[in-house]
Amino acid sequence: MKELSRVKGGIGVEVYAKPGPQEKYWDAEIETMNLRQIREYQLEQLKYMVRFCYENSPYYRAVFNEKGVNPDKINSLEDVKHLPFTNKQIERERQEAAPDFGDMICVPEEEIVYVSASSGSTGVPTISPFTAKDFDEFQDYQARLFWAIGMRAKDRYVHALNFTLFVGGPDVIGAMRTGALGVWAGAIPSERLLFILKSFKATITWTTPSYAWYLGETAQKEGMDPKKDFSLEKIIVAGEPGGSITSTRRAIEELWGVELYDFYGLSDLFGANAGMCECQNGLHIYEDHHIVEVLNPETMEPVGDMERGELVLTTLRKMARPMIRFRTGDIVTVTREKCECGRTHPRIMGIHGRLDDMLIITGVNVFPSDIEAVVRKDERLTGEYRMVVYKEEHLDRFDVEIEKLDAVEMDEEVLAQEVREVIKVRVGVSPKRVIVLKEGELPRATHKAKRVIDKRNKVWSD
Ligand SMILES: [Zn+2]
Repeated sequence: MKELSRVKGGIGVEVYAKPGPQEKYWDAEIETMNLRQIREYQLEQLKYMVRFCYENSPYYRAVFNEKGVNPDKINSLEDVKHLPFTNKQIERERQEAAPDFGDMICVPEEEIVYVSASSGSTGVPTISPFTAKDFDEFQDYQARLFWAIGMRAKDRYVHALNFTLFVGGPDVIGAMRTGALGVWAGAIPSERLLFILKSFKATITWTTPSYAWYLGETAQKEGMDPKKDFSLEKIIVAGEPGGSITSTRRAIEELWGVELYDFYGLSDLFGANAGMCECQNGLHIYEDHHIVEVLNPETMEPVGDMERGELVLTTLRKMARPMIRFRTGDIVTVTREKCECGRTHPRIMGIHGRLDDMLIITGVNVFPSDIEAVVRKDERLTGEYRMVVYKEEHLDRFDVEIEKLDAVEMDEEVLAQEVREVIKVRVGVSPKRVIVLKEGELPRATHKAKRVIDKRNKVWSD
């Protein structure tokens, strides 16, 4: 494997060389590589990774054999199109087929030092494993994204993301690599977070767009002026599309008197895979770590620059669980036109929606199928349900309507409370209300009933 990254040793083994504060790029060589150099490097890595997967993962070996993929016959980057796709569902199935880490992994467990986990539609968390080297490179990549928004040693960065199994948790280490002071706040109540931001005179923090808005309003309600009573200069957002929607971005920037930077991440691969540079015009996704494909989700053929398609990523450096042609399910537009910042890597200009029916509610992935699973399992109910998603004070909320069987005699409020609890445990976020209806009150449809009503403003431009 060809070494390009500045990371040369394990955690604490090497002192990381970081650029001087005046330097524009975290890794000038990589960030400004010309297209020919990038492509040469990618081809070399692709050959290496395909062989590595074939030799070390029972899953990849089987599926490559089945599709007639010969690792010795990867001769150009075009050959990526012969490789089979992966997706979240395959990831989950392979994990269940070969517990605990699945047979997509390519290293013995002894080499795995970190796993993140995310809840999926079956309720079984899917894990994302990292070797020590993967973890180092993951943090180096995060440092590259932080550096591009201007984070430097003078900054105080309050990391307010969840530390519990969430892949974004360790990103604070990447921030510290820039030399910034990393404050490990975690997911805490907003009053406490405001206190920390204020007392530590934080210059940068990271949250979701809707929470950034909510937090600013909470500060105002408590008699504070977000612009004057805090030292924030920049807010990073991720997890929802708002950060790339100009009107939303401007509103949050205005409220706090900050610059807003959007990041995009996939827990199956990294913390953040793409991020805005100082130009705030699209999110750079770096091709030394990924082969970036944007495909028409029906034909699976590539679409043109700035045309909508599904983002498909192949990891080029992850060893614990390489991902070959991972279908993200996100519909994006990507441009390869050179950015004014001088970085040569492509930019995601818009994230327009999800292919599947997953909802993002206050940054938590919620599948209607999770609600369905709860409702169908409860023998006191008909199994019919409806989800109504809406905004309340700039926060995402949802109600769940259910039907109680006529034969069941019990207090509706007690029933509602019990179902609410089960949903909370299952999906990680509570419905605002569970509304108990009588048998037959919900509309029935002959096929594919409309079980989700999303009243939130259309955040995806059409
Ligand atoms: Zn740029």
